[in-house]
Amino acid sequence: MRLSRYFLPVMKDIPAEAQIVSHRLMLRAGMIRQVAAGIYSWLPLGLRVLKKIEQIVREEQNRSGAIEILMPTMQPAELWKESKRYEAYGAEMLRIVDRHERDMLFGPTAEEVVTDIFRAYVKSYRDLPLNLYNIQWKFRDETRPRFGVMRGREFLMKDAYSFDVDEPAARKAYNRMFVAYLNTFARLGLKSIPMRADTGPIGGDLSHEFIVLAETGESQVYCDRALLDMGAPGPDVDWDDLQAIVDERTALYAATDEMHDAAAFEALKEDQRVSARGIEVGHIFYFGEKYSKPMNAVVAGPDGQSRPIHGGSYGIGVSRLAGAIIEASHDDAGIVWPEPVAPFGVAIVNLKAGDSATDAAAEKAYAALGALDPLYDDTDARPGAKFSTMDLIGVPWQLIVGPKGLEKGVVEVKERRTGAKEELSLDAAIKKLSAKK
Ligand code: ATP
Ligand code: MG
Repeated sequence: MRLSRYFLPVMKDIPAEAQIVSHRLMLRAGMIRQVAAGIYSWLPLGLRVLKKIEQIVREEQNRSGAIEILMPTMQPAELWKESKRYEAYGAEMLRIVDRHERDMLFGPTAEEVVTDIFRAYVKSYRDLPLNLYNIQWKFRDETRPRFGVMRGREFLMKDAYSFDVDEPAARKAYNRMFVAYLNTFARLGLKSIPMRADTGPIGGDLSHEFIVLAETGESQVYCDRALLDMGAPGPDVDWDDLQAIVDERTALYAATDEMHDAAAFEALKEDQRVSARGIEVGHIFYFGEKYSKPMNAVVAGPDGQSRPIHGGSYGIGVSRLAGAIIEASHDDAGIVWPEPVAPFGVAIVNLKAGDSATDAAAEKAYAALGALDPLYDDTDARPGAKFSTMDLIGVPWQLIVGPKGLEKGVVEVKERRTGAKEELSLDAAIKKLSAKK
């Protein structure tokens, strides 16, 4: 992409209500534009990042065996009346009446819609397990939308729904999501910690929130330090038997505020105790027959008897993750994207557009590095402004091409994360960066 043809509206003056660093940086880098409270347009740079996050989430859902569908944003109230949630959901639900006076709503979640799909087609335990997911915009009329995309009213969520014949089978589905979540967040460059979460009136121990530690997080959380040192399980696991992996993590103390057990926490050695703020990036939940019973989603079991299926739902805040990644990865100069979600693989900075030798070298690099999806600053802005924009938008590598260097036969390669700079010949720089792909 040539910057001269791109739309990258970086901003100097940002609204005072942008309190946290990720919100400020997303506005400054021209990633998002507020349309109304908690409702945003995603500008080109932001959209690139959002799509990358979405794709990693998708790949890890697919790997775990979940199957993608797409459900609508608009839902009929009738389905929610069946599950008895229409009244219960309260003011967070945006209720809309259509021209035929039918009660509709902008979906805040999709248990009812997916249960209706399930019951229409699936009749036998032989067709289970089944896990259907979608990545779709949700609307919740939050009392306090804030922190930019972190707590929006309209936000992008991955929501998966598992259907199983009984509780032990549902536990396997739960474990698959548990491991898929650890792998997903690790690929996004985040350290996530599964923490016991409230199961409400349903009870049981099968609800975990996945938390990324950050000073600006909205949740107060407590955990055993050992969890911070544990890597993700990775893709090469036995997806049919994940109990040991889940047990290893859930044996260690980790709870959000609502579930906090001060005595159990105090029992840890003092230097093992982590009490911190965190961002909830995902939530997995087993709810048994909560929707299948009232909505009559039943399958015939091996004995021929029909029974309500056991369900779970599993959310990831895809748009919230864009903010969470920035909270976890930035410095004074701007965003530092982890490579897997970076909007561009490399930024090429032409320090003297119009100078024929500089143009030729930069064009050569731009053509040679096509596979890295380069952003080429071919504008005639001042070098200082170019450097600060590139640092701000956080592309992992910068290739800086200027007339002085070229006279010496070199260009500069800068790693955004460390700030480390290296002078190389143009060919050597191209070779080094090409190896990053
Ligand atoms: P929270 O406690 O933050 O309101 P929740 O418990 O309401 O979250 P879920 O219903 O479990 O959230 O939704 C799944 C995921 O969607 C959450 O883990 C979070 O990452 C994301 N999410 C929820 N509400 C919002 C929001 N208002 N803006 C952005 N992302 C959200
Ligand atoms: Mg909520």
